[in-house]
Amino acid sequence: MLVTPSVHHLSPQHGTLSASTTRYEKRLSDLAGLYADAAAFDAALGSGDRVVYTVEDFRPSGASGDLCFGVTHMLPGRIGDEFFMTRGHIHAVANRPETYRGELGQGVMVMESPDGQVVTLQVTPGATVYVPPCWIHRSVNTGTEPLVMTFVYPADSGQDYGIIARSNGMRVRVVADARGWRTVENPRWRPRTEAEIAAIHASGA
Ligand code: ZN
Repeated sequence: MLVTPSVHHLSPQHGTLSASTTRYEKRLSDLAGLYADAAAFDAALGSGDRVVYTVEDFRPSGASGDLCFGVTHMLPGRIGDEFFMTRGHIHAVANRPETYRGELGQGVMVMESPDGQVVTLQVTPGATVYVPPCWIHRSVNTGTEPLVMTFVYPADSGQDYGIIARSNGMRVRVVADARGWRTVENPRWRPRTEAEIAAIHASGA
């Protein structure tokens, strides 16, 4: 099927993309279980189930070979010493890559390979982070202003959020410190089995 060409305008301040096809928001309650400090999470939720981030994108189709692109707008905040972050995922078709470009604010992209290597890269305005195939990824707002990023990925990628839950979280957490931020090990993290790692690398290959 031939798709009609289109043009789209981004508003970084509002986190909107014109002529988008999808918009969703994640509230604090959608992020239950992600944070180490459960008491701080309950206290934050008690003062209101606010929106943490919104995603708006344009997906012309879900066909292999097509693209999806859009914008993520995440408010600043913390639960205990841990910054606001996205749920994080690996692509359901795991060998699909993604790029994220910083538009506003300061953040960190946390990436974890199937065998547990961790890479954290700073997202600043004008910086493009490449998330290669088969890396789990999550963005974290380490600043005091909204973190706004645009992204592009193959339209047939899909998202698997369960991979993080199955390992009791990502291997590291991003927490505030005197210099801004640092990573700490997640003691509950479970390494993936050889079979799990092989299945991820086989997905989409
Ligand atoms: Zn992704």
